[in-house]
Amino acid sequence: MRLKSIKLAGFKSFVDPVTVPFDSNMTAIVGPNGCGKSNVIDAVRWVMGESSAKTLRGESMTDVIFNGSTGRSPIGQASIELVFDNRDGELGGAYAGYNEIAVKRLVTREAQSSYFLNGQKCRRRDIADIFLGTGLGPRSYAIIGQGMISRLVEARPEELRNTLEEAAGISKYKERRRETENR
Ligand code: ATP
Ligand code: MG
Repeated sequence: MRLKSIKLAGFKSFVDPVTVPFDSNMTAIVGPNGCGKSNVIDAVRWVMGESSAKTLRGESMTDVIFNGSTGRSPIGQASIELVFDNRDGELGGAYAGYNEIAVKRLVTREAQSSYFLNGQKCRRRDIADIFLGTGLGPRSYAIIGQGMISRLVEARPEELRNTLEEAAGISKYKERRRETENR
């Protein structure tokens, strides 16, 4: 599984739709302070279902929508689409057979979020489900943010265990067991 591109539209500073391709195994995003580098990472967390505005460096969930700048008025909605190369079939469930998986989230000023998988409307948990155990999620270790290493070093045993279980790929089985037990 590999992230092929991110399409940003109306998200934070990215008002006009733009697609950022990730053509090689290593990509660096560089630019002056405030140009939007961290906004790209926020976009990945957000589309994976992040529901804390604070984690996305805002105060409310609609703060991710372009809020206007000199010469540009605010707009009504934000969307992000991530396209994954899934030729190795790592992204599973009903999507295991797809060579490409597109995950999209859209939010309006009414704070309504909608999620899409390969263009079909889905639930937030459908997205969480296919990424469980891959290391990619709103809070998982595929994204190492500032301060995360020291948080891990100082983590309580249960928190550390959650991280290790995600890395070992067993968190999805625990989640399924929890669901079955709650039925
Ligand atoms: P640094 O090098 O300082 O870490 P950076 O490249 O990571 O900078 P970001 O934090 O990604 O920069 O981008 C910050 C910019 O995004 C600011 O200019 C801010 O005004 C703009 N921004 C954030 N949210 C919105 C929004 N909702 N509407 C318009 N602009 C926004
Ligand atoms: Mg930054």
